Amino acid sequence: MTKIIVTGLSGRMGSHIADLVRKTHGTELAGATEAPGSFAIGTTLPEGHQVVDDLAKCIERSDVVIDFTSPEATLYHASVAAQHGKAMVVGTTGFSEKQKKELSEYLKKIPGVWAPNMSIGVNVLLKVVAETARHLGDDYDVEIIEAHHRHKKDAPSGTALALGESVAAALGRNFSKVVCYHREGQTGERPAGQIGMQTLRGGDIVGDHTVMFAGIGERIELTHRANNRDNFARGAVLAAKWIHGKSPGIYGMTDVLGL
Ligand code: NAD
Repeated sequence: MTKIIVTGLSGRMGSHIADLVRKTHGTELAGATEAPGSFAIGTTLPEGHQVVDDLAKCIERSDVVIDFTSPEATLYHASVAAQHGKAMVVGTTGFSEKQKKELSEYLKKIPGVWAPNMSIGVNVLLKVVAETARHLGDDYDVEIIEAHHRHKKDAPSGTALALGESVAAALGRNFSKVVCYHREGQTGERPAGQIGMQTLRGGDIVGDHTVMFAGIGERIELTHRANNRDNFARGAVLAAKWIHGKSPGIYGMTDVLGL
């Protein structure tokens, strides 16, 4: 049995994950947290545990913490998990470079899965775009287009950045040097080797990602569309079961899925 604590219980992802933990064979909801001041604090879960405002108050009951909150909250939760030697699954996105370093320091001390997208389809897509880029080479222009709901707080999505990094690595390019996030006015011709990144926001779009390889007279477009949040939640719970009992270190979904 893997005992799981879900942080950010009332969030779009937290609520889905808690439901799935309850339905999954071999997992148990051992507690949940919300942000201080949230309406959920003090409510009692069907499992009998109270929702608390600080992970430190309940972490001892868990084997694994699943965290989809915000960069600042995740850093605190990772510090608590590291202090208590508990495994962690991090799905939060939108970390600055400084925050990524800090998170790595905490996760190195415990078994940790850290992935900007926990869906099985997206993790296969990460492999497929790298393979496609290797076949097509430098003659094809790469553009990445992502679309998400109006409430999403970071842009571009962590998944779009991961897709860009996957393509750049396959083509031997430094992603941060070749990425272009914005075009407006007299931009001049598209520089060779550039990787374009376009962000759309609106309504309740769960998450669409397309990687376009545009050549002369043809193009390939590889698209993943999330119809609902179940795919992320399933990946997160799978990751929690997989990481339970592993040695300390930072793992990705490719490790979890054996890709
Ligand atoms: P959301 O805003 O609906 O939920 C976040 C929840 O975290 C909120 O309920 C908020 O109150 C809570 N929270 C904030 N600070 C907290 C704290 N200190 N302690 C406890 N809870 C706290 O957002 P969401 O759509 O659920 O997304 C959450 C994160 O997960 C985002 O970064 C998003 O990009 C990411 N995400 C990742 C994946 C993936 O597969 N890796 C998939 C979807 C979303």
